[in-house]
Amino acid sequence: MILTDEPLLRAPHLHLGGTWVRASGGGAREIRNPADGEVIAVVDEADPDDVARAIAAARAAFDAGDWPATPVAERAALLVRIAELLEAHRDDIARIETLDTGKTLRESHIDLDDVIAVFRYYAHLVAVDADRLVDTGDPAVLSRVVHEPVGVCALIAPWNYPLLQMSWKIAPALAAGCTVVAKPSEVTPLSTIALVRLIDRAGAPPGVVNLVQGAGAVAGAALTGSPDVDLISFTGGAATGADIARRAATHLTRVALELGGKNPHLVFADAERDSAVDAVLTGVFLHSGQVCSAGTRLIVQDRVADEFVAALADRAARIRVGPGTDPSSRTGPLVSEEHRAKVEAYVALGIAEGATLITGGKRPDDPRLAAGSYYLPTIFDHCHRGMRIVQEETFGPILTVERFGTEAEAIALGNDTAYGLAAGVRTADPARGERVVRALRHGTVWLNDFGCYTPAAEWGGFGRSGTGRELGPGGLAEYRETKHIWHNTAPAVGGWFD
Ligand code: NAD
Repeated sequence: MILTDEPLLRAPHLHLGGTWVRASGGGAREIRNPADGEVIAVVDEADPDDVARAIAAARAAFDAGDWPATPVAERAALLVRIAELLEAHRDDIARIETLDTGKTLRESHIDLDDVIAVFRYYAHLVAVDADRLVDTGDPAVLSRVVHEPVGVCALIAPWNYPLLQMSWKIAPALAAGCTVVAKPSEVTPLSTIALVRLIDRAGAPPGVVNLVQGAGAVAGAALTGSPDVDLISFTGGAATGADIARRAATHLTRVALELGGKNPHLVFADAERDSAVDAVLTGVFLHSGQVCSAGTRLIVQDRVADEFVAALADRAARIRVGPGTDPSSRTGPLVSEEHRAKVEAYVALGIAEGATLITGGKRPDDPRLAAGSYYLPTIFDHCHRGMRIVQEETFGPILTVERFGTEAEAIALGNDTAYGLAAGVRTADPARGERVVRALRHGTVWLNDFGCYTPAAEWGGFGRSGTGRELGPGGLAEYRETKHIWHNTAPAVGGWFD
């Protein structure tokens, strides 16, 4: 039991060069359960010196350690041991994730299963991924394209999927032979502490996986401003991503950015109604809308719109909001009071912009939920593309509804966004479905489904949703340099200069 025989909730929470240490400046932050506002942990908060020590440890493990040249089979074996330990502690870590983020235990278990699958996937991929031989036309030349680890990686994750997003980075980084400094969100650090404990136990050499905690403006800035970091892999908001990219440019550090989304869900009149209503509902209100790929923008064909929106509002009003630890809850609280205040400001903006509020738009009345940061599923009808509520990521349980007449209008609305992370299409016409999914400028498009992903398929955004890809072979490529080796087995005088 991670929570009992290893005192996760007590310091130290920084992992530098294979040792768990306190923050040198004595900084610490209270971590609260958003379901009731109770303090569940006090976590060490790194200052820039701690971050520098973490980078130095990762640098030494990369430049002078064995890990980058460790045979692929051994690296893959470490990933498999990590997956096995995660399986053994699945329930414990799921509970930690629920207490920290507010998401339901069912969602946390799904996250854990994804995380385990990702470690197993990269163990397999790196083991079968061979060098490439190139035919130069000269039998005396052996030409090979090989992959080498990119170096020291700074891995920065957000609070909505803390363990999952960090694992999408750590698994391919370790598979590639990189060393890392991980920084979870200061709002939800606990599951990453648990993961690094397990990685330690699985036998990662000292310095290969380092962990710092703390605010973006302090620990995050120190990590992303360092000339000793070779790659920054960041998941979070677009404004933070732009800030990191500017800082990284000083040293021409590579960046991979997984940013926000404002994801359209296009529903054509011929779509089977019940499954479409269900998919739109789940697509936007799962995890109370705190999902980068949430389908927050319903774009529905005008001749079925009234009926569709009425069915949706009826179901939204019946979603049971409550603590993630209560099995009867279907969605939990927002992550914090501060975040709920942002969501409430967006609802006020929607009303001010003239959208029609048809359900939600307030906190739940149940007095038992008063201490948590809950908010009801909210739907705004009669929205249009000029509204900020339609264009900006609200990151809460807010759905906006727009209507379209023709297929061309639906595509134009679906692409009318600065983002480009994900989109959904529902139609009974396969030919139209194929035309529309190809026309949408988004990194993932679901046809008659929504929100699904798999470790073997790339994930990432077009436009302001980011620059890189996670998962799949592309997710491993982020952590590798490509080297072409030209070996002349029969050197002779070339005679260019007589
Ligand atoms: P955020 O940008 O506020 O913070 C993300 C991480 O960056 C945190 O660890 C934070 O401490 C750190 N950070 C903040 N400022 C920093 C700075 N100046 N320098 C370095 N690091 C800094 O995002 P958030 O509120 O934690 O997460 C929500 C956002 O994440 C949403 O926009 C959501 O869409 C996005 N997200 C995207 C994906 C994806 O796959 N594209 C997945 C999950 C979340």
